[in-house]
Amino acid sequence: MYFKHLNILADKLSKPISSKVDFIQLERARLIATTSEYKKFPMAAIIACKNTIISIQTNKPKSHPKQKSCKYNERSERLSTHAELSVILHAKKYRDFYPEKSTIYIARVLKTNRMNNICCENSPSACSYPCEQCWDLILYSKIKKIVCYNTHGKPVEINI
Ligand SMILES: [Zn+2]
Repeated sequence: MYFKHLNILADKLSKPISSKVDFIQLERARLIATTSEYKKFPMAAIIACKNTIISIQTNKPKSHPKQKSCKYNERSERLSTHAELSVILHAKKYRDFYPEKSTIYIARVLKTNRMNNICCENSPSACSYPCEQCWDLILYSKIKKIVCYNTHGKPVEINI
C-alpha cells in the first residue's frame, strides 16, 4: 500500500507536531482506528475545521466507486475504502467545511494480537502517510495541513 518513494518525500516534508490540540486530535484518531472494521489495516481520519471536528471516519472493508476507479493502488487496496476518502466525502456535506482552514488527522494502528486480528486502546501507532491516491485527494480538496504518524510511528505535521 505505501509507496517507498512517497514515504521518503513525506518524511522530508514533515516536522514534529507543534500544537497540543493536534496531538490530542491525532490521539483521538488513533483510538478510533482501533475500531476499524478493516482489520487488515486499521486506520481512521478526522477533519477539523478551525479546531472543530466535522467528520470522523475509519477505513472500510467495502470498496467505494471512487476507490475502485483508482489506477495507482493494488487490487487489494481498491477493495476497501480508505479513511481519507471517507472523511473528505463526509466533510464535503457540511456547509461549515472550509478546507483552507481545516486539518486532516490520519492514524493507523498495529494489531496487538495478529493471530486474532485484535486492536486495543494501547495498540501502537504505525506510519499513516496517505497513499498516492489519498495524497492527490487531499491536495485537490485544498486542506492545508496533514497530521499523521511518520515511518517511525512518531506524530508529525505536513503543511501543504
Ligand atoms: Zn489511501
